[in-house]
Amino acid sequence: MVLKADFPLTSFTDFGLAETLTRALVDAGYDTPTPIQMQAIPELLKGRDLLGIAQTGTGKTAAFALPILQRLSAGRPAAPRRVRALILSPTRELATQIADSFKAYGRYMNHMSVAVVFGGVGHRPQEDRLKRGVDILVATPGRLMDHMAAGMVSLESTEIFVLDEADQMLDMGFVVPVRRIVKTLPKARQSLFFSATMPKEIGQLAGEMLFNPVTVSVAPTGTTVELVEQRVIHVEAGAKRRLLLDVIVAEKPERVLIFTRTKHGADRVVRQLGQDGVEAAAIHGNKSQGQREKALASFKAGATPVLVATDIAARGIDVSGVSHVINFDLPNIPESYVHRIGRTARAGASGIAISFCAEDERPFLKDIEKITRQKIPAEDRRGTLPISERTDTSERGERPAGKRPPPRGRRPAAAPASADQQRRDSMPAAKARQPGAAKPSHAAFGKPGQAKATPRPAHRDTGASEETLGRVGFLAGGRDGMKRKSVADDRGNRNGR
Ligand code: AMP
Repeated sequence: MVLKADFPLTSFTDFGLAETLTRALVDAGYDTPTPIQMQAIPELLKGRDLLGIAQTGTGKTAAFALPILQRLSAGRPAAPRRVRALILSPTRELATQIADSFKAYGRYMNHMSVAVVFGGVGHRPQEDRLKRGVDILVATPGRLMDHMAAGMVSLESTEIFVLDEADQMLDMGFVVPVRRIVKTLPKARQSLFFSATMPKEIGQLAGEMLFNPVTVSVAPTGTTVELVEQRVIHVEAGAKRRLLLDVIVAEKPERVLIFTRTKHGADRVVRQLGQDGVEAAAIHGNKSQGQREKALASFKAGATPVLVATDIAARGIDVSGVSHVINFDLPNIPESYVHRIGRTARAGASGIAISFCAEDERPFLKDIEKITRQKIPAEDRRGTLPISERTDTSERGERPAGKRPPPRGRRPAAAPASADQQRRDSMPAAKARQPGAAKPSHAAFGKPGQAKATPRPAHRDTGASEETLGRVGFLAGGRDGMKRKSVADDRGNRNGR
């Protein structure tokens, strides 16, 4: 990975890291520490608590993984059902990536065991693993609580605790389980707390967990933004489908991450791109673990250069070489904009972010420009594109990904569908194209032969939010794998399991 050349030239060997670790870093191709690594590693090696204000892409995983490995290497391996270092992560994808990083950096160390537990998969293999004791456990909160309740693991002798992506934990409703888990940790421990943003609740949570922490802030909201070339295109909601195709054809992105606010929106964009001759995959909380991993692997390998994602599913995804981020929908939480476009500015690289803004998303754009302290260059394409897509008011009213609802008055009222709109809504997809709308051309990646008339699925929205169904995955991961649980059941359970 190419890092910006203006980082001060401190080398990893200056930290006094073990030779086994520096050797693994050579393998990983890292020669210069990133700013968060330079600031955090020396303090963490001393045993200090840390408050890290940083998002993924800054090198924060190595910033905590290296000192943890070094500190643990001095002690004895974990006893059965005990954990020496616990890392809590909000999503399975991030948990897996963190565990992979620990394995990569710790590969030359003897007896350093790393395990990962998350929902959506069977309990048994995780139980068997926990019974043997784990030096470094990376976990999502709900499944960890299941294992603790079943007596498979105790945190009473945990030496180091890391809470990663704390603001995302809050958005996903995991703060209560996190607090419960923290209560079972010993008081004498080292604690690390990472969050990309610092809303009030998060500051409070950090205050409860940390003792005299050193604060390291490398990517405060708005910083990454400056690395990315941004544009906003004003357009009618119903013309976004055509605009997306036009943008893909014009930009010829190497690898593009498209964001929608809802999981249904993500599926719809994938379906429509398929109909328009562009192969794409979706990644969101409604997909099984296998489907998510497959979509991600295919995107990483460049086999499917278009990935459509919701905010939650995309958090923590580490893919280098994302040339474009397209916000098909603007996020209603302005911080999400920073996270989204940060996908294309990993560790100093830069990219292009294009946002589609419909009339009812103007307030979101205003909020984004306020928190990023910038005016995004805008283009007005209203009235220039065929309205080829219905504006599904029920879907636009669907609870977006993430738990936090927009503050009162922020969410735009859904416009009532016109008679013409309603008529089009009742038609099958193929006929629903607006009369006179040009059939979209096949796009940059697509092979015309691939365009398939995917029938519109018989069912419509369940009305469940990404966050709710994401949690169903955690909850439902029984011994027989992922089973859907009813949304009503899930609403009663706020434990994020
Ligand atoms: P993270 O913020 O931990 O998700 O890391 C973002 C990306 O930067 C990952 O692909 C890391 O492998 C990479 N990375 C982390 N530290 C360094 C470094 N010092 N030099 C080069 N790449 C790095």
